Amino acid sequence: MQKSPLPNAKPLHDAARYWGADLVAVADTSRLEGIETDPSDLLQGYPRAVSIAVHLADGIMDHITSRPTPLYARHYQNVNALLDHIAIRISGLLQSWGGKALPVPASHILSEERFTAAISHKAVAIQAGLGWQGKPTILVTPQFGPRVRLTTVLTDLVLPAGKPIKNKCAKCTYCVEACPAGAIKNASTALHYDLRSEALDLDACVGQLRSNEQEKHIPPYLCGVCVSACPWGRPKGSEKR
Ligand code: SF4
Ligand code: SF4
Repeated sequence: MQKSPLPNAKPLHDAARYWGADLVAVADTSRLEGIETDPSDLLQGYPRAVSIAVHLADGIMDHITSRPTPLYARHYQNVNALLDHIAIRISGLLQSWGGKALPVPASHILSEERFTAAISHKAVAIQAGLGWQGKPTILVTPQFGPRVRLTTVLTDLVLPAGKPIKNKCAKCTYCVEACPAGAIKNASTALHYDLRSEALDLDACVGQLRSNEQEKHIPPYLCGVCVSACPWGRPKGSEKR
């Protein structure tokens, strides 16, 4: 049976920000029906998913032009660790309010073949209204563009939920031009993709990610080029690539 909702989600937002989150929103998980999860019944009993974002440092991201840097690699891992920490604190808070909570790890690939995790944090964030799906299927937030890392906490508390926001990619092609693998298929219009393969040449993208592994200090599956190139993420007044 579903628990009574809190009057609003402000205490949750305030706590998440206090612990280091930059953006927080709540998704109604009925909007995620049909999404692939591992295990397949992961969302059962969880009507809400809290989406949490931490802003990546612009000083790190501005250095990425054609491949990930060692500084980005370490920053990426540190931000993931911060997200995991915030998710654990949020879970404790939800439980102290009488709810059940399931913190999903920020970065935890379960299928190396299909490149999937327990749930897509991006899909949750889009349904929560944190941002829209950009052309390379990255999440683009109005505040920080795609320069965010994400995590998710599932809960049975029926918190007030957000709604998806309008896609603002329009005719922009910065990421398409920057991608070293030429993997982004659609340059012309803003679309929503249900499958990554509709948006990306996955073999080319994953091949690029794997090629970066050969470099010292770069862990598997890191790129960051499209994330760095997006004008929505570049600090105001900085030159847009
Ligand atoms: S992650 Fe890298 S290879 Fe994949 S679409 Fe973005 S820029 Fe291209
Ligand atoms: S660079 Fe442009 S097209 Fe690509 S995700 Fe950002 S806004 Fe969308």
